[in-house]
Amino acid sequence: MDHDDGPQREPEQSAEKNGAAADRAKAEARAARAALSSMLAPVRARTRLAMGLQIVGAAATVVPYIAIAELAKALLAPGPVDAGEVRGAVMIAVIGLSVRALFGGVALALTHFADVALQASLRRRIVERLGRAPLGWFTANSSATVRKAAQNDVHDLHYLVAHSAVEMTAAVTLPVVGLGYLFWLDWRLALLALVTVPVYAGAYAYMMKDFGPQMGKLNAGIAAINKAIVEFVTGIGVVKTFGRAGEAHAGYREAATRFGEHYSGWVRPMLKLEVFASMAVSPPTVLLVNLAGGIWFVHAGWVSPVDVLTASMVALVIPSVFVTLGFGAQARREATAAAQRIAAVLETPVLPEAVHPREPEGHEVVLEDVSFSYDGATDVLKGIDLRLTPGSVTALVGPSGSGKSTLASLVTRFHDVTGGRITIGGVDVREIASERLYRHIGFVLQDVQLLRTSVRDNIRLARPDASDEEVREAARAAQIDRRIEALPRGYDSVVGEEAVLSGGEAQRVSIARALLADAPVLVLDEATAFADPESEAAIQDAIARLVRGRTVLVIAHRLPTIVEADRIAVLSEGRIVERGRHPELLAEDGLYARMWATHERAVV
Ligand code: ADP
Repeated sequence: MDHDDGPQREPEQSAEKNGAAADRAKAEARAARAALSSMLAPVRARTRLAMGLQIVGAAATVVPYIAIAELAKALLAPGPVDAGEVRGAVMIAVIGLSVRALFGGVALALTHFADVALQASLRRRIVERLGRAPLGWFTANSSATVRKAAQNDVHDLHYLVAHSAVEMTAAVTLPVVGLGYLFWLDWRLALLALVTVPVYAGAYAYMMKDFGPQMGKLNAGIAAINKAIVEFVTGIGVVKTFGRAGEAHAGYREAATRFGEHYSGWVRPMLKLEVFASMAVSPPTVLLVNLAGGIWFVHAGWVSPVDVLTASMVALVIPSVFVTLGFGAQARREATAAAQRIAAVLETPVLPEAVHPREPEGHEVVLEDVSFSYDGATDVLKGIDLRLTPGSVTALVGPSGSGKSTLASLVTRFHDVTGGRITIGGVDVREIASERLYRHIGFVLQDVQLLRTSVRDNIRLARPDASDEEVREAARAAQIDRRIEALPRGYDSVVGEEAVLSGGEAQRVSIARALLADAPVLVLDEATAFADPESEAAIQDAIARLVRGRTVLVIAHRLPTIVEADRIAVLSEGRIVERGRHPELLAEDGLYARMWATHERAVV
């Protein structure tokens, strides 16, 4: 019995899973459409106006055809040609063309201006939002997302805003008005003009019948290929070392082959149908059907030859609607995805701004029962109490992953604490206006951020009004002035172009920046992992100058800093487990003493 149940239950379960996945996909699609719709709201009125104008413009496109028919009638009529009638027909054709150009042009101009305004406003909103995001949010990953949102995604909306609405309106209006005219002329001609359309529509409906699931499979195939590439690239060092290159990319080959087989299995049978469908609405077929049918109608005495010619010309424009609608649908899909990514950036969590900002009095930093969690579930810091007295150096030590960087990032308000509070000069950091906070607190971190601008501007980032002499003085104190002067354009050299700096040099530029900013509280990550020996000594000198007289919290990696620190806080698994000066901690014979012993052994 048991083994009978198994196979039965499985498909049921997977059907349930598929159902849930489909519901989720539907909800996501709804959310994406809502995001797009609210993003386009500011330009909706202008888009509608443009569509209205385009309806007139597109309707006017049919006028020249009618005028030509009238002209032909006037010219072919028995007896002398009526010059007035000919002039009238020509005038109507010219007016039709002019109205089309004018209204169509104004409609496109309107939507293009709307698009420029929308792009500018979206970019402003992104910048404004990110200006309030916690600094801790900015990682390499988030920078890529922001760049994509601000550049590509905002640009992807262009077709939708500037072209799609107007072009779709034209694509629908033109055949509708044309057909209306044909029905007025003779209903049989109107039906003749539509004869090939059901063939095209039927073939397409057949081809698209399982478009959704098939696209899902294709996307899964692409994801599998990407995964195989990432696996291959991340493991490339190992692969090369052990000379197994052939085996390593087998995963990729397999994923690519599977994708190729599925794609051709789906698309190949449809190619003939696609050709057939396109042929049904191609100009030669449309002309052939309309002229042949028309000749029959003329013979039957239903219509005149001129009517057949007019009807054939109008019939030619009808298929254009399918091309535009198809193209528009693709653009809309891309724009919807782009709108969703922009909406995500615009929903970046922001740091709440103080309603009644206060100014710190003094420079003492106090952490009271601070806890913090990145994901809202596990606390990476728990019950931290720490007092950083003015003019003292507090060293944070502890095993990797114990929470040192996180603690430092809370003091600089890269994130907000999830429990307890941090005060500077008696004021909670959340009550200090953010533009004031960084006058009180400076930081030099491992991940040195230099901007693509002159070295001078990089140093005076926090004090743009600093004089050249002050900048030079800070650079001298940071032991980097000689290196800067040796650059092609000295202090005017642009970082990343004329000024290609090593990690240690970049760190000294950031120390010069902190020196010039002259904030009384300083958070320092002393990592010197990438510094060359010559830089190392210079950096230590620069740091010694920087910390003098300030309230300093340092993630310490070097023995002299630790040994000389006024206070050492030993972190382990998010808690301060020991605190005191170096000799006291050694005497305690705990984690610190063990770390010290390990270090001594390593050095010896
Ligand atoms: P340390 O600086 O002592 O090496 P960290 O403060 O970097 O320690 O890390 C403390 C804990 O927080 C670790 O478990 C780490 O995995 C986690 N962590 C650090 N940064 C993040 C982050 N941005 N998102 C989620 N978890 C993080």
